[in-house]
Amino acid sequence: MQLSDHSLRQIDEAYLERLGDAALRALSAKLLVDLKEARERLNQSSRNSSLPPSREAPWEKTRPADATMEGDEPPEARVAAEGPPETATADGPTAEDEPAPAAATQPLTPKRAGQVKGAPGHGRPAPQRVDAVESHGPAECAGCGASLVGHIGRAYTGYYEVDWVREGPGWAVRIIQHRFEESLCACGHVTRAEPVRIVEDDVAIGGFRLVGPGLVSLMVALSKRYRLSRMRIQEFLHDWLAVWISTGAIHAALAEAAAIVAPLEEELVQAIQRSELLHADETPWPEQGASSLWLWVFITGHTVLYYVSHRGQELVRNLLEGFVGVLMSDGWQAYRGVARRLRCWAHLKRKAQGLADSLNPAAQGFGQEVLALWGDLREAVHKAREGPPGVTLRPAWEQRLQAFRARCEAMRGHSHAKTHALAVEFLNDWEAVFAVLENPLWPLTNNEAERALRHWVILRHISHGTRTPQGSRHFALLASVIDTCRRRGHSPWEYLRTAIARRRQGLDLLPLPLGG
Ligand SMILES: [Zn+2]
Repeated sequence: MQLSDHSLRQIDEAYLERLGDAALRALSAKLLVDLKEARERLNQSSRNSSLPPSREAPWEKTRPADATMEGDEPPEARVAAEGPPETATADGPTAEDEPAPAAATQPLTPKRAGQVKGAPGHGRPAPQRVDAVESHGPAECAGCGASLVGHIGRAYTGYYEVDWVREGPGWAVRIIQHRFEESLCACGHVTRAEPVRIVEDDVAIGGFRLVGPGLVSLMVALSKRYRLSRMRIQEFLHDWLAVWISTGAIHAALAEAAAIVAPLEEELVQAIQRSELLHADETPWPEQGASSLWLWVFITGHTVLYYVSHRGQELVRNLLEGFVGVLMSDGWQAYRGVARRLRCWAHLKRKAQGLADSLNPAAQGFGQEVLALWGDLREAVHKAREGPPGVTLRPAWEQRLQAFRARCEAMRGHSHAKTHALAVEFLNDWEAVFAVLENPLWPLTNNEAERALRHWVILRHISHGTRTPQGSRHFALLASVIDTCRRRGHSPWEYLRTAIARRRQGLDLLPLPLGG
């Protein structure tokens, strides 16, 4: 919307009469944009469309966005007066995205988005100290379009923000008072500066935020990198930063961060599709109320992309459509549509070891044969890597491979089930299993992908997964951005802090830093 309610209320026929032609035309254009937008909203509500109800003005809600990240506590609503009184700031009885009136001035029309009728209190208690004051004034008149830069405005509302910022050689908690001003134009219109509020991914971005960008970034780090639940994050911030934030506000901050980086998904998908060598792997991922979900990882030299999905076949097909590189994966069916594939030898080796350790003599023999083959193959590949590039090992190995293939054929249908299964696995995926002989620089194992998943598997044990589809999506988005930044040698926390600060100012999201 171009015009705020506050501006619209001031515009009447008498005001229009007073405006010059050019100003009138400019104002008409704004009114037209707003009218069309309002019409569209009228015609498209959750009652007659497939939009989830949360898309309807989420800032009107009195509870945080519905998203659920992993954590061992339910996504609770903001609770009144949780904090011990001696802490630097408190998330009082009002919502995080609700304005706390500025102490100095009396607002003309106090606006309290999301206020519950009869709810106690009108704002957070003022903090005991304020480290900085940031004033936000309107740049131009919303009515006639005249510049208001340099005008002396007056604060009509404001809020306090607690942030975690670089200061000298270290970090410090800063409390910033944001003042929003209104200015009277010569035309008689009073224009108000308002915080930027955007809705992305069904989550509100910006607004009257208690938690500053640096502190949101720290929360994401504590949640995803250090695997703390929201209650543990709350405890950490209280014990070490002397800041008390409700778990609801922590939850909302994590959801906002995920929504802010959501548009990066496209960039990550393109990087995956264009890659020359891609590792893929999957691990079970529980989501409340949904069964057989998987966490997928797709990882290249510079990009890491995660998804939580139960439709793996579809995911792999869509994501790898047009992919012409080499894919390293396990033998799962969905990967077999990819033309150039490598199979992870570590998987096959583990299965062969199982056979070698079994009590069945035939299985033992076959297992030991595979282990010996694996040992020789690995040695040859490592040796070739030291030599000149572009040398294929395949011709020199062809005879040995044919002999092994005959052994697999003989073991197919063997009464020892696992022996039969391993022989069939080799035969079914023969080219992928031995493709590494064509280019010894290709990897022998899928360790890259397995290592990436290991971090989240530990998180899964702690958190028991996610609770909602949106929570799963947010988790995968943040995990992708964090690991991609790390892989490219950049700080994910610096990227997130900047991204959050920019989006809250209505600026574009910057692309992810490129690999160094
Ligand atoms: Zn004006």
